[in-house]
Amino acid sequence: MGSVRLLPEIVANQIAAGEVVERPASVVKELVENALDAEATRITVDIQAGGRSLIRVADNGSGMNRDDALLCLERHATSKIQVAEDLASIGTMGFRGEAIPSIASVSRMALTTLTSDNEAGEGTRIDIHAGKIRAVESAGHAVGTTVEVRSLFYNLPARRKFLRMPETERSHIQHFMTLAALANPAVGFVFNNDQRKVWELPPCRMDDSPDSQLSAVRERMAALHGEGISLLNVDSSGDYRVAKAIPDDPGIDMQWDGQTTVRTWGLIGAPGVSRSTRANQHLFVNRRPIENRSLNRALMEGYHTALMKGQFPVCCLFIEIDPGEVDVNIHPAKREVKFHHERDVRRLLTQAVQETLLAFHSRKPTPTLTPVDEPVDVMPSSPAAIPAQQELGDGPVPAALGQAQPVAPQHDPLPAPTGQTDGAPVPLLHVPLRLVGVVGKLYVVLESDKGLVLMDQHAAHERVLYEQMLRRMESEGRAASQKLLLPETVELPPREARFLSGTMETLNRLGVGLSEFGERTFLLDALPPFVKAADSRKFVLELVDRLQAAGEGVNALRLGEDVIAKTVCRHAVKANDALREEELQNLVDDLRRCEMPYTCPHGRPTIIEMNYLELEKKFGRIQ
Ligand SMILES: [Zn+2]
Repeated sequence: MGSVRLLPEIVANQIAAGEVVERPASVVKELVENALDAEATRITVDIQAGGRSLIRVADNGSGMNRDDALLCLERHATSKIQVAEDLASIGTMGFRGEAIPSIASVSRMALTTLTSDNEAGEGTRIDIHAGKIRAVESAGHAVGTTVEVRSLFYNLPARRKFLRMPETERSHIQHFMTLAALANPAVGFVFNNDQRKVWELPPCRMDDSPDSQLSAVRERMAALHGEGISLLNVDSSGDYRVAKAIPDDPGIDMQWDGQTTVRTWGLIGAPGVSRSTRANQHLFVNRRPIENRSLNRALMEGYHTALMKGQFPVCCLFIEIDPGEVDVNIHPAKREVKFHHERDVRRLLTQAVQETLLAFHSRKPTPTLTPVDEPVDVMPSSPAAIPAQQELGDGPVPAALGQAQPVAPQHDPLPAPTGQTDGAPVPLLHVPLRLVGVVGKLYVVLESDKGLVLMDQHAAHERVLYEQMLRRMESEGRAASQKLLLPETVELPPREARFLSGTMETLNRLGVGLSEFGERTFLLDALPPFVKAADSRKFVLELVDRLQAAGEGVNALRLGEDVIAKTVCRHAVKANDALREEELQNLVDDLRRCEMPYTCPHGRPTIIEMNYLELEKKFGRIQ
């Protein structure tokens, strides 16, 4: 198709030439994006020696006729940009045409292509070495284009020397391929490294509906990162106001002139799902993979207490925004973007994540804990001492051992989980749970219709107390507090004393009754009712320690209520409190009433599931 045009000089000059080819991954990127622009539905990428010796990108896109193929080898030809204004709002992936001549000038390139309207079915092959066309000839090729790039930088030994180990270059390429595959689930991708298949991703079926896009991205995430990650659907839209210059009125430079809508959609890890690196965190703006620290922070902020310190969310999120609101041109690799209204975009992203995490649990109905037939003996001595629930042994064999459905114990059928759609996980606390016992004085063993559920009694309790405390603060201005029979004085070293004075007001509101009683002495006369501090002096000392640690890096005198509440709660709950059956049931019910029940306020999971499938794998019943 004759769609490649020569780029006028004025626009050409705005494009930083020569910076396009940084490393093998940038070659792959340009070629894959070309293929996507040519509307390919299947793209195969082969690399050898990390792309140093070979990069081959083959697509089944629209292909080029001979003239277009030759034209695309001229510098500054692009099918995308024709006037300078286009640059301000580039909605497409990059600058087509700019890259090909750059790559051709630093490699041995062969481009073979055929268009569907070529009746003779005669393709074109062009060989270029270091930018010089060596041969143009007829060649057989299916409809589409294959670009082969050999010996990258062979004519620039200085650049070639700077290439990293093949393994490093491969990982950069694979990273880009991952992003391209996530952004384009309707396209099939094959990636071969040194003639070995890394992955083959079939095209996901997808139409324009948000639902089908979400499930396509879910399918891709599973294909790339494994099935086992519990991911929630995100689809959230929000507005912010934008200003526009009104040139006719010199008195007013800017005027509030309406609003713009931002849609954030995709997948995020369920509460408690996280990774120690950002490797599984993918952000796109208008389908373009981006790096933006501010958005990374917004994401973390959205997770708030649902993410452990030092951990990163798992996500694949797409931000759709008016292209005029984004600058994508500040880096030639185009991974960095700048938003004109960054704070608004950031706020909307945080909000989208928050809403999703909250909605995950709040779409009730909440069943109550199903009653236990026999009282559970909570044996404080040894885990082995917990009596096995008889009916579990007598019940029918669970799941996949011949039957299609997991089977609950005979006498007490558990209803099926509600409303599971499109692979989105069912919240654990939405299904009935049957109390089995406690192991290690800490882990509450429960049974769901799908298998084994374990609750960390300590983490669960912490979450319950934390939310109760904050709720009470919100409604009454201060949390519950109980006067001590015998007020105590605590003397602190100067630094700790200064710190405590600064946080005292918040502590008071949280129910810790402290007042100054001398220069470095404090009087403790009340505690939150749930704090069972045998030694209240020690409690205060440890609290100060923890708060100081929590406040590191933050202005310690201005620790937020939530940070303090978190600390008080962690401190209040003791792992080894043996709870009675009734208390355990209450704990599960209380947890269900929480807004964010799946993690403790520090982001550790409160409750985990090991379904029958996992159990069967562990027992070698299935592979
Ligand atoms: Zn915690």
